[in-house]
Amino acid sequence: MRVRNKPWAKDRILEYPQYVVSDPENWKGRWQQRFKQEQPIHIEVGTGKGQFITEMAKANPDINYIGIEIEMSVLVVALDKLIAEELPNLQLLHADGRDLTDYFEKGEISLLYLNFSDPWPKTKHAKRRLTYKTFLATFEKILPDNGEIHFKTDNQGLFEYSLGSFSQYGMIIKQVWLDLHTSSYEGNIMTEYEEKFSSRGQRIYRVEAYFPK
Ligand code: SAM
Repeated sequence: MRVRNKPWAKDRILEYPQYVVSDPENWKGRWQQRFKQEQPIHIEVGTGKGQFITEMAKANPDINYIGIEIEMSVLVVALDKLIAEELPNLQLLHADGRDLTDYFEKGEISLLYLNFSDPWPKTKHAKRRLTYKTFLATFEKILPDNGEIHFKTDNQGLFEYSLGSFSQYGMIIKQVWLDLHTSSYEGNIMTEYEEKFSSRGQRIYRVEAYFPK
């Protein structure tokens, strides 16, 4: 994704340490202390401008959420949403998804969302896909036994690749949606990219998969 650089984003983020975690290694094993209530933590890796994670936090006050984003210029938009909503069950984290084992203990995260992850279509860039085996190994280490990944995309190539990658890694595919918006799936919360692509008539793919014990 091409991102418009916002040189002021870092300063803005640093103004809100109660919402954006910039020292995640110091919270390893004690993320619950960042929230008002102790309850399961769900994360989205590549949260972008934060529409999905903000709406999920509003709809599910009995879950704690962390939106993780590598680009400060995008994360700052998610921060604006959180400032406006003042949600006690949402935190944002400026971090690279490949480093999550430095920040979370095994089982500290109950569920992991990937939404419209960058497809990196060239084979030579496959290692950058968030569903590549090295990312899956990282995710497995912070989820509990039988922990799940829920993944949505409009990109058929990335979706097919990801189904193969999950299976080859040893994950179990629980359910697949080949056209989410015409399916009977209830309670779908749309991401910014999902709104953009589905308004152009593109179908949305979804999969739930887990790491068996
Ligand atoms: N999930 C949002 C949505 O559906 O609207 C954003 C999708 S956007 C195509 C992918 C996002 O993932 C970008 O904001 C990008 O910066 C972020 N991203 C890519 N690689 C990442 C990584 N290794 N760790 C954290 N975020 C990452």
